[in-house]
Amino acid sequence: MAKVDFKDLDLEETRAWVEKIGVETYRAEQIRRWVFSHQAESFEDMTNLSKELRNHLNSFSTISQLKLLKTEISLDGTRKFLFGLEDGNRIESVLIPERGHYTACISTQVGCAMGCKFCLTARQGLARNLKSSEIINQIMQIRQSMDQPGKLTNIVLMGMGEPLANYKAVAKAIKNIIYPDALDFSRRRVTLSTCGLVPEIERLGRELPINLAVSLNAADDKTRNLLMPINRKYPLKRLLHTLMHYPMTKGRRITFEYILIKDINDRLSDATNLVKLLKNIRAKINLIPFNNYDGSPFEAPDEERIRAFQDELIRKNYTVMIRKSKGTDISAACGQLTSRCF
Ligand code: SF4
Repeated sequence: MAKVDFKDLDLEETRAWVEKIGVETYRAEQIRRWVFSHQAESFEDMTNLSKELRNHLNSFSTISQLKLLKTEISLDGTRKFLFGLEDGNRIESVLIPERGHYTACISTQVGCAMGCKFCLTARQGLARNLKSSEIINQIMQIRQSMDQPGKLTNIVLMGMGEPLANYKAVAKAIKNIIYPDALDFSRRRVTLSTCGLVPEIERLGRELPINLAVSLNAADDKTRNLLMPINRKYPLKRLLHTLMHYPMTKGRRITFEYILIKDINDRLSDATNLVKLLKNIRAKINLIPFNNYDGSPFEAPDEERIRAFQDELIRKNYTVMIRKSKGTDISAACGQLTSRCF
């Protein structure tokens, strides 16, 4: 029988698993506390379990860890982690300092198959989906590396990969991120970013309505088709219709990410179209000037143009942030994650 990783299981599955290997089901909560709250690295650490039980668990189960291969620290305090997986693949995660707290940006796939034209990860293609344990371990190991782990309050699934293309493992990881018997992050502080996989957005809304961010980047189908191949499958009308019905509690809004690219999507007419497009949605907009990288076909607009675009949206009463990418000196900025950076 193959060993099962406790970090790949939710509470019900943990109960079912321990029962299957002949252990009382109430032990499931105890084991999960050790794994997620106390961050036990082996069954030996579980000192309130008998030696016999620890040995028994060890024969049938594991508690996985990622291999930390490298950490880089940017001038602005952003930290990028390169993790090695069991099969030799590598993934990256980023810890971003904000005002008074930290946000961890984690990966959900090795590479990505979505092919967005502005994205460095897309060039790598998709190697494979991450397991739920590999997603959760990024957070746990980043937290372990911090002087003040309690300051890690926000999680964004915005690193390498399209989270909704790996729905099953991502949903399981989200449960273990937000459930009180596991990592217990506030649901309001967990955000999933998608390029727009419509059926999976609908499913997420039904099953686990956390904060949603949508990588939009264009306000018309022609431009979006050029930048993001997914738009041919789920064009703007279909995407926006789904987003209009995404369940949100009072005061919550969908974040729209808009990477500003010179002469492609940065005209005032684009801003006007964006306003029209989002008129029925509770939205906030993050404008992200494109980050140039070697061999990139695009450029960032100049400062004046970025301001004009922002002003146009503010005039129409949108909350608009210009997100200066953090960690640009270590290639940790949006769309620049790739395990080949090192
Ligand atoms: S932007 Fe996101 S969805 Fe698009 S290719 Fe890059 S990682 Fe994939």
